[in-house]
Formats: sequence, structure tokens, C-alpha cells
Amino acid sequence: MRPLATAFHRWRMRRMLRRSPIPQRLWQSVTRRILLLRRLDAVQLAHLREMTTWFLDQKSITGANGFAVTTSMKITIAAQACLLILNLGVEYFDGWVEVILYPGAFRVSHPEMDSTGLIRNEASVLAGEAWLRGPVILSWEDVKRDTNHNSAGHNVVLHEFAHQLDSLNGVMDGMPSLTRGMIRKDWAKALSGAYDALCLQVATGKSAFINPYAATNPAEFFAVVSEYFFTAPDILKNCCPSVHKQLMLFYGSRNGVCSS
Ligand SMILES: [Zn+2]
Repeated sequence: MRPLATAFHRWRMRRMLRRSPIPQRLWQSVTRRILLLRRLDAVQLAHLREMTTWFLDQKSITGANGFAVTTSMKITIAAQACLLILNLGVEYFDGWVEVILYPGAFRVSHPEMDSTGLIRNEASVLAGEAWLRGPVILSWEDVKRDTNHNSAGHNVVLHEFAHQLDSLNGVMDGMPSLTRGMIRKDWAKALSGAYDALCLQVATGKSAFINPYAATNPAEFFAVVSEYFFTAPDILKNCCPSVHKQLMLFYGSRNGVCSS
């Protein structure tokens, strides 16, 4: 981001935070129930509150088919989504606006090509879905379950918004815009090595070291390891230390977006 654009962005951010802050009592009552946030210290929580305020100002969270979405529900989603960008910056969520919330799992039907080249419209039932450049679609029932029960490697909000981070550079492929100082070759080597090892485990019927859904494609691998990074970092560190290291550099970095 150019210096002038950065200064303008900061000014807009400060103005927005003054204009429409999340009331402290409401913030505390909602975030107290989000198990994922218990690792944050007071400074990080204050920063997260600002970013969540920005999210609610800039993004729209609406219910599908008349489903009523309360402010508490919006904060529950926005706070967990912003955990991903706490050290990256809000610009990592550029390029999309809409979040759609269903009361429970929702049915979708997308055309898919099978191995013979035939296009089929296969219906699936999903807990979440992220489209390139938005929208993000979520099941509130699944969001609520992951919010209240910290299950290792499972958090639908982290998963879908990790896809949005990944798509910032125009393609959802497991290679997000890395932060300044990170080395693209190191990232690719760490993540593709672990992805290939997981695919081999799944193909040979061995028990997978992480959720085998990560073997679907490199974009899903990135979204799933992101879930592990925040919900079960020790598991990720034990089974994929080089992936854990790259995610530490990425999510832990305080630098801005790097154009490489
Ligand atoms: Zn996914």
C-alpha cells in the first residue's frame, strides 16, 4: 500500500472507530463466550475489537431467507474472522463485502466435471462456502458449535475467511499474498511438501495426520491448516513443523501486504 493511501486509510479507520464503536459491555459479553479468543492478552483483544468494529462497518452480514441476524451473532462471526488478520491488517479482507448466514447447513448445487469430462450438477450440504471475491456463506448452527466447543482443527469461520485471504491476489490456490520478508519458495516448499504427504496418506488408506479434507486441493489445505494453527497449534507443530513455521511468519507478522 502506498504511504498516502496508508495515511488516508488510517484516518478513515480512526474516524470510523470514533463514530461507531462496539459498546464495551456487548463486546465483553459476546467475546467471553468465544473459546478461541482466550489465548489473547488485553492489548490483542483491544486491537481485535477495533478490527471487528471495522469489519461490521465495512462488510454486510445478512440472513438468508429472512433469517434474523442479531448484533451478537455478527460480532461472533466478525471477531473470529478478524483473528486471522489481527497482525496482517484489514487490507487482507479487501475485494469482497457480503457475508450470508443460514440458520443451519445449506444445500448447494454447483456444476462439476467428472473424470470422463461430463458436467454434473451435484448437490451438497455445506456448513460454509467462500466465493472468489465473496460472498462468504455460513451456517449459524455450525458457527455456534465451533464458537462454544473448541474442537481441534475445526472452525468454519476461520476456514471460510482463510479462503478469502487466499483469494486476495485473484486466485484461491493456497498461495496468499505473503507478508514482507517472507520467501515464496519457502512457503511453497513447506505447504506443498506437507500437502503431497497428506495426499499419499489418504490415497493409501492410512490415517491422516490432519483432517483428510485438506487433501482436496491446495486451497483447502491452506484453509484447514489455518484452522489448526488457531485451534490446535501444537498438533500442527508436531505433524507439520515447516507449515507451522510459515503460518507463524504469515499470521504472526506485523508487516503489511507484500506485492510479490
Ligand atoms: Zn474450504
